[in-house]
Amino acid sequence: MRDERADMSTPAPFDTAAIRKEFPILEREIRGKPLVYLDSAASAQKPRAVLEALQNFYQSAYANIHRGVYQLSAEATELYEGGRDVVQKFIGAQDRREIVFVRNATEAINLVARTWAEENLEAGDEIVITALEHHANIVPWQMLAERHGTVLRVAPIDERGDVVLDAFEALLNERTKLVALTHVSNAIGTVNPLEKMIALAKAQGCCVLVDGAQAVPHRAVDVEALGCDFYAFSGHKLFAPTGIGVLHGRLPLLESMPPFMGGGDMIESVSFERTTYAAAPQRFEAGTPDIAGVVGLAAAIHFIEGIGMNAIEAWEQSLLEQATASLEDVAGLRLIGQAREKAAVVSFVLDGIHAHDVGTALDRSGIAVRVGHHCAQPLMDIFGVPATVRASFSLYNTPAEIDALVAALNETREIFG
Ligand code: PMP
Repeated sequence: MRDERADMSTPAPFDTAAIRKEFPILEREIRGKPLVYLDSAASAQKPRAVLEALQNFYQSAYANIHRGVYQLSAEATELYEGGRDVVQKFIGAQDRREIVFVRNATEAINLVARTWAEENLEAGDEIVITALEHHANIVPWQMLAERHGTVLRVAPIDERGDVVLDAFEALLNERTKLVALTHVSNAIGTVNPLEKMIALAKAQGCCVLVDGAQAVPHRAVDVEALGCDFYAFSGHKLFAPTGIGVLHGRLPLLESMPPFMGGGDMIESVSFERTTYAAAPQRFEAGTPDIAGVVGLAAAIHFIEGIGMNAIEAWEQSLLEQATASLEDVAGLRLIGQAREKAAVVSFVLDGIHAHDVGTALDRSGIAVRVGHHCAQPLMDIFGVPATVRASFSLYNTPAEIDALVAALNETREIFG
């Protein structure tokens, strides 16, 4: 059998022109200009391979799964469960049963908060997060604190946007039961030194959850090597459809956890007197799941593996370097977040021009960027800005698109004076 992970270390040469042809939406024009899509951190565009996999599935293999004795249902079940194998290999999980399909990273984190944390944490227990977190990795822990009296502690960052490791370490104590960390910041691109942080958390005996929503599209992830207990991500940022996401959990933990939602497909047997639950991961997949989403996710992963994750990372890093250097030359532009290691995100503000006005001006040139707080309001507060402009890069972006961004920013600067 072909070893997908081995393929990732020997990538084929990077051919953006060929890659762009795989994304039909990139042929679109916006306001008479070619679309320059610089918002992949919000959601990535979909390659033909994913679109075709969805079409084929609905057209020729569609049925509900796990229940039918007939051929179509068996085929659909095979595709869905085969998708679990694909995800398992993609993130280096030890066992296919460690892969739970959910709607998105948000649901994955809430699942852990509602099951593992409900069961294992009590009043006064502490959860450590970082100042970099997306709301998805803040709010579920605040909600838990309201229900259970747990305490949320936040590791600070320095002015560059790196977590202050000494301060992070100082927060860990015998009351710390969970460390919940983003792998990569969506708002400013910081890549956390996870190996170090997880080792520190593990030295205190803490459970570790990683929010990998912004990591899996940009770098090879190996959950075993990381040594985390839970790893969460969304398919839609990984070129897959919306509505499908993954929670990876170490099997002994998943097996010890109560169900998340009750209903069909998550039970072993039901009577009015007593219901017993299915083993993991079915226990956490109540109801008809996003079968087509899993088909699309598997196709997206195959697509990525065909290009090679290391090649994608190298390409995006070159775009990041180009963008960082050329944005520094735009008058009155301040980069927000210049961490030692960054993924393909540049966040910035233009002196005297609101981020929303910048976004609207860029849209006139067909350039799609994200403006706002990026669901990271506490982080914006730390940098003293209400909002930033964020350009995020993916494998289909080109140096010419960064030039277009810089030119449009210079024009915006002139218009607003
Ligand atoms: N965490 C991070 C770091 C993110 O960037 C996002 C999406 N912006 C999420 C969590 C939540 O992802 P979703 O909305 O797909 O659940």
